[in-house]
Amino acid sequence: MNLILLGPPGAGKGTQAEYISEKFNLAHTSTGDILRAAIKAETEVGKKAKEFVESGKLVPDSIILDLIEEVIKKSEKEGFLFDGFPRTIEQAEGLEKLLKNNNMKIDRVLNLKVESEAIIKRLVSRRVCGNCKATYNLLSKPPKKEGICDVCGGKLIQRKDDSRDVIENRINVYNKQTKPLIEFYKERGILSDIDAGKTPDEVDNEIQEVLSSIS
Ligand code: AMP
Repeated sequence: MNLILLGPPGAGKGTQAEYISEKFNLAHTSTGDILRAAIKAETEVGKKAKEFVESGKLVPDSIILDLIEEVIKKSEKEGFLFDGFPRTIEQAEGLEKLLKNNNMKIDRVLNLKVESEAIIKRLVSRRVCGNCKATYNLLSKPPKKEGICDVCGGKLIQRKDDSRDVIENRINVYNKQTKPLIEFYKERGILSDIDAGKTPDEVDNEIQEVLSSIS
């Protein structure tokens, strides 16, 4: 099974991706995580991506599609869960080609819907573990010990692009460049809307219902 998680920044894609990929043994592929790791390691891709990521702009499609091609070649899991990819029509078309060449297809696109107000509130209170990448939210999912990751004991940090001005930019970028994908996948008959304004467990239940009807 190959899935895409679509939705604005702060819709809870990362949190849901963790649940789903574990349950269905899918390769969780977050282009945001791949880019942040590349920036930290100062690789060629990281150097090219740094400015885009830190200002909330999209990294060029060609760089992203090269990364995805690598991931598809290397994975040994039963399928993929794309989180934060594709983000443009060009990326979606590129993905279709890559999958077709490997006799694969997208089975379902989960469109996580949430209001802009709620997104901003969620993102400014988001914290991530600098070590294992586990995600927390000071309002809805605080760590047991302030500033410390429950999973690995690492230090929690705030992403550079989770500052208010960059968040607004990311929401604008989503509306302009990524939202058209909703129509793109609706036309293909594989889009399911999910109400992502609810708690993570409630959202998970709704996703399970959709997935049980196709798996
Ligand atoms: P995310 O962790 O998904 O919120 O992504 C963080 C940032 O990484 C985005 O604001 C973009 O700068 C960059 N990024 C992640 N995925 C993509 C993508 N599929 N296409 C272009 N840029 C991306």
